[in-house]
Amino acid sequence: MSAVLRLAGMTSGYGAVAAVRDLDLEVGEGEVVGLLGPNGAGKTTTLLTISGLLQPSRGSIELLGQDLAGRRPHRVARMGVGHVPEDKSLFYQLTVRDNLALGTRTLRRDLDQVTSWFPELARLLNRKAGLLSGGEQQMLALARTLIRRPRILLIDEMSMGLAPIIVERLFGMIGDIQRETGLSVLLVEQHVAMALGACERVYVLNHGQCMFEGAVQVLRKDPALLEAAYLGTS
Ligand code: ATP
Repeated sequence: MSAVLRLAGMTSGYGAVAAVRDLDLEVGEGEVVGLLGPNGAGKTTTLLTISGLLQPSRGSIELLGQDLAGRRPHRVARMGVGHVPEDKSLFYQLTVRDNLALGTRTLRRDLDQVTSWFPELARLLNRKAGLLSGGEQQMLALARTLIRRPRILLIDEMSMGLAPIIVERLFGMIGDIQRETGLSVLLVEQHVAMALGACERVYVLNHGQCMFEGAVQVLRKDPALLEAAYLGTS
């Protein structure tokens, strides 16, 4: 499988503090990969660095063989990295339609696509994003990123603050979209059980270092590793 995204020896953080150290990570074509680990493990830092919001202090980041390190976030986005951040970063005073319009010049055509993936949004197009439910906001955040047709989707804590039944539906939608489009996905999740159901392969971070990389079935059979994915090890 050819790698869409490849991190080699990536170290990144805040000032002198490295929040992620020496990370090797790959996401293949059409692969759904999980990045797991407890609070503060470095998951968000990893996504921020891939999308150019932080610069790595060491190592490389490649998208389809092109170096991303040193590029500004808008360039990285244009090259095909779609990032759905933890706080969703929607324009809450704007309508759903206007939030979507910011991501495309061909809204009318793209709306059909987006509403086929997220049917709920079809009847909410004229509603302000700030008035949507948490689940609807997450759908909008996903839709707004997908409308730009990324090669890889980075999703940070999709389950944050949402009822499990909503999270399950969102994961189902991601799976459907992934199968339809062949998109690659790297998802950060604290809701480990949900992530294991959606991913083929996972990385477990702890204190900024990768302590496991492999198939979900392997992680499932190792209670100590599973606990680390949830809680970390001291
Ligand atoms: P969470 O699920 O809690 O967001 P995480 O695995 O995503 O956890 P990160 O947010 O990447 O973890 O944080 C990794 C480390 O970097 C933590 O020790 C955190 O305190 C630190 N950190 C995060 N943001 C900043 C910042 N803006 N300035 C300084 N340190 C930070």
